[in-house]
Amino acid sequence: MNGMEEIATPKRTKEIIHRHGFSFKKSLGQNFLIDQNILHKIVGAAGLDKTKGALEIGPGIGALTEKLAQAAEKVAAVEIDQRLIPILQEVLEPYPNVTVYHGDVLKLDLQQLFKEQFGEVSRVSVVANLPYYVTTPILMKLLEQRLPLENIVVMIQKEVALRMGAAPGGKDYGSLSIAVQYYCEPEIICTVPHTVFIPQPNVDSAVIRLKVREAPPIDVDDEGHFFEVVQSSFAQRRKTISNNLKNRYFSGGERAELDRLLNEAGIAPNRRAETLSIEEFANLSNILLRAGVR
Ligand code: SAM
Repeated sequence: MNGMEEIATPKRTKEIIHRHGFSFKKSLGQNFLIDQNILHKIVGAAGLDKTKGALEIGPGIGALTEKLAQAAEKVAAVEIDQRLIPILQEVLEPYPNVTVYHGDVLKLDLQQLFKEQFGEVSRVSVVANLPYYVTTPILMKLLEQRLPLENIVVMIQKEVALRMGAAPGGKDYGSLSIAVQYYCEPEIICTVPHTVFIPQPNVDSAVIRLKVREAPPIDVDDEGHFFEVVQSSFAQRRKTISNNLKNRYFSGGERAELDRLLNEAGIAPNRRAETLSIEEFANLSNILLRAGVR
């Protein structure tokens, strides 16, 4: 600790913010963590050690970054807000294993960043208290790019965490659950009260760990088609799968053909998408594709 007080205490956070004349921007999802226990839980869930790397998205004033620097061999942190860059340079000065990038993570070439930063480490995890307004686009970018990741441990809105981890049959289960579970095994680590942030967000939060799979749990002939079938099936949750897919793929009629293909996949046409497992969606997508339905 180099004799310094840690960043994530209410007193030091306020002191840093005040001294730099920093004002929070709600539009950037700026809710900073001020609780050591939560930070330890987040970092602990990532399974880091001194052979591994961590990518942090949105370091803020560096509270989590400091803990990552202590736990991992190499840390890269991407922050969009230019006003935070001098603060990060100051507070992270004792940690030469941290590189701060200024930029929007959604626009950044992450493959290039990985090459630059993580050539030497054994495994990399993403660890972040994410800006809630862009949680899903950020996670989908990380997953779709198939970056060589071990874990993604993120603080997100509780409601979104429940949707990511949901099993078929309930109201939380939907296309986000399937997209995340295609790439990862999700596990909710803890729920988090408002009081651990400044300013306090007006939604509940949770920490979720997404253990990135080596390979998807199902065989699909065409990933793009699979995800489109899933999206279309959930287009209107209260409608049957047959009605939703008819609107997307059989706008000219041919209802009997669609229902025949659903039956071939072992799916009663009057079921709703929220009752289908990821395996059933995979089978359905493959059967539709082989019948030329795209
Ligand atoms: N990690 C800090 C903490 O836990 O105290 C701050 C977390 S705060 C919830 C989210 C951070 O993400 C803010 O610092 C915000 O400026 C940054 N941010 C927002 N949108 C971003 C984007 N598109 N790319 C990179 N950083 C972003």
